[in-house]
Amino acid sequence: MKTLQNYIGGTWTSSQDPNRLTVINPSTEESVAEFPQGAAADVDLAVASAKTAQSAWMALTVEDRVARIIRWADRIEEHTDELAELECREMGKPVGIGRSFIAAGVGGLKASAQEALTYAFDASTDDPDGGRTRVIRQPVGVAAVVTPWNFPVTMVLGALGPLLAAGNTVVIKPSERSPLSTVRLFELLDLPDGVLNLVLGDVHAGEPLAGHDDIDLVHFTGSVSAGRKVGAASGQALHRAVLELGGKDPVIVDEDVDVRATAEAVAFGSFVNTGQICTSMERIYVHQAIAEEFVVELVKAAEAYAFGDGLQADVMMGPLVDERQRNIVGDQVSDAVAKGATVRTGGEVPAGHGFFYPATVITDVDSSMSVMSEETFGPIAPVSVVSSFAQGLERASESSFGLAATVYSRNADHIALAASIPAGVVWVNQWQGGSDVRTYEPARASGMGATGTTAAYYSATRPFTVHIAPDRS
Ligand code: NAD
Repeated sequence: MKTLQNYIGGTWTSSQDPNRLTVINPSTEESVAEFPQGAAADVDLAVASAKTAQSAWMALTVEDRVARIIRWADRIEEHTDELAELECREMGKPVGIGRSFIAAGVGGLKASAQEALTYAFDASTDDPDGGRTRVIRQPVGVAAVVTPWNFPVTMVLGALGPLLAAGNTVVIKPSERSPLSTVRLFELLDLPDGVLNLVLGDVHAGEPLAGHDDIDLVHFTGSVSAGRKVGAASGQALHRAVLELGGKDPVIVDEDVDVRATAEAVAFGSFVNTGQICTSMERIYVHQAIAEEFVVELVKAAEAYAFGDGLQADVMMGPLVDERQRNIVGDQVSDAVAKGATVRTGGEVPAGHGFFYPATVITDVDSSMSVMSEETFGPIAPVSVVSSFAQGLERASESSFGLAATVYSRNADHIALAASIPAGVVWVNQWQGGSDVRTYEPARASGMGATGTTAAYYSATRPFTVHIAPDRS
């Protein structure tokens, strides 16, 4: 079994705390690595190292910083297969899917870092009275990045481009359920010592990091409950917080769609990564005119999702990340059935090793059921029939979350109304579509702080103004 360590100031470093946690392969239930539980003393060391390194990193030219980040990204890219295997062993994602998301994460790191080359870090304007106003955007200083386990590599890389390219140094605290692939990213690291630091552990490391006095920004991705605590700690310390939290994303399926193609697209949105995506489709509102035909097609698509150990080539769906997550999913299905829902396929825990759960379709659901109101994070597609597109919009908007939403329709008036759903992103006729210019801030309890393109640079920098009065001599 591998033993993992922190990476601080360019050195692999033992934790100050003797307590250890274990990574369990969710497909086999075997232990694959042990690592420190984390401690405030580890965090102090890592933050101090980041603080020391920051002025030299900021003093490099932006071209130099970007070139170094790209060089690291290239090395990561060369190790995509190996990283996908590590992700599979630590959290169960099939390697084929893992590879494509890692490739997207590396592409995102490169593209977001390269935006620094055209970002206005220092912009002057002539004032009407003859003076000049100069707006300078400096790196905030030291950033903390705290990540979840569902896309271990991509979540880490996703936050780093703008933070590093703008001249910040960073301390990363990956999820305690998936530290293995993040450790590998640090083994491949090609940045000056102290620019990027790694502290392993659970809340014992996350909490002191999020509230640390010498942190200037925390970029947190995770659950709403932990996000509220991180937000409160940031408020107390008066540093910036970008919070990307959970969702309960709705889908509206209009009466005029290609039923089979849409059912297959909804199956993918509900079951890929075993439903463990913050923007997984978790509430499906289908127009009554096509509802039964849609459910038949969705059930067919669900039954094609072969589950198993993601190291095997033909597996489309891995296990849930752990027993706790499988229990949450199972409890939501039981709650729905007790309140009158019908399981159309799936819904049974299979025998044998691994935290597997089949792709499941349930109907006759309503908002009194936890499966329609709380985040599931599992391969469940709950379908509710609506009498009109307008009713679909109304139901889709009834949630305390507001992360993303998807609408399938050919009706131009309905497509125009899709933007009325409270969400950071609304996709029309293609889940997860869109280009790199995407900028969003989650609505409601799904988060706080805009990300994407220049918004990410706004949060990675602090603007200040120098005003030069006109020469009146
Ligand atoms: P989690 O909140 O349990 O943990 C996330 C991270 O926060 C982990 O590294 C954990 O150790 C750390 N943490 C926990 N408590 C903390 C505290 N009090 N202070 C500081 N750090 C703390 O979430 P999870 O189970 O790892 O991930 C799943 C959740 O993440 C889901 O709710 C999912 O929707 C969300 N998520 C959101 C996005 C997004 O972009 N909005 C993306 C992926 C996942």
